[in-house]
Amino acid sequence: MITLEHGSKIGNATVIVDIIQKGNPEVRPGNKMVPKYTTDHDTGNPGRNANAEMHNRLIHNLSSYHPKDTSHVSWHLSVDEHFIIQHIPFDENAWHCGDGTGPGNMSSIGVEKCMHAGCDREAIEYNAIALHAYLMHAFKLPIDHVRPHQAWSGKYCPQLILNKYGSFKPFRDKIEAAYKSGVKTAAADKLKIVKEVDLVKGIGTAQVKVDGLSLRDQPNVKGKLIRKLDKGSAFTVYAEKDGWLALGGGAWASNVDGKYMDYEKHSNYEMELAAAVKWAQEEKVSDGTKLGEPITRAQAILMHYRASQK
Ligand SMILES: [Zn+2]
Repeated sequence: MITLEHGSKIGNATVIVDIIQKGNPEVRPGNKMVPKYTTDHDTGNPGRNANAEMHNRLIHNLSSYHPKDTSHVSWHLSVDEHFIIQHIPFDENAWHCGDGTGPGNMSSIGVEKCMHAGCDREAIEYNAIALHAYLMHAFKLPIDHVRPHQAWSGKYCPQLILNKYGSFKPFRDKIEAAYKSGVKTAAADKLKIVKEVDLVKGIGTAQVKVDGLSLRDQPNVKGKLIRKLDKGSAFTVYAEKDGWLALGGGAWASNVDGKYMDYEKHSNYEMELAAAVKWAQEEKVSDGTKLGEPITRAQAILMHYRASQK
């Protein structure tokens, strides 16, 4: 799947990638998409705290419901003053344009600006402008492919932008200016193509790159041979010692000087996150949205992120 880079900055916002689970096609339809447009929205949710985190919880909750208890509703990105949160990969569509299986829903990236009570609207606009410009670079989109929701279905959205500027054009002009000047990043290089996986196990992953690599019961050549490993076989790595890697069950294989395996360590972020989620789930910590139920992975990701910022 293709996502923004978790932890990167766009505008003044930090990017959080928190993809919702598969399973409810009303929320994550999973149709393959090549992005050809971006679509701008206002959430129209003026409630206090109706920020990007709240909308992230909302879409995660929706995705966990039975399809008959939800309607077609989803979008790719929620934006506020502090965060750009990605919920759906860019190579899958979402339901946000009200045009059925038209080009809005089937080929545009949905950007929801979370204009909640007491928010700094200018700051959110600034981040959304930078985000649209970034996506134009990343997917090589012309400026007239940055569209308001209104262009697809006639719905009066993004309502605050339309109220403020009288039309979408002045806002789009700002996006074009940002595209031409401010956001000269190698945006396409920064998009991440990642495998959808659950939380990491161990300290990394390794794939054997030679035939007949010895698996031993100690991290040295004196260890008793357990068996030989085939080229291409992949493992979770649980520990490292003197260039040897523990592949589980007390078994070790040599990767001295990186010769025998392609070894990829998990990042500190992934390790901390896995520990935080494990702790929260064991302690049955609830974030309060579903009282009595343990925290979800999505909620733990944000809690962990906030804690790391203090
Ligand atoms: Zn809209």
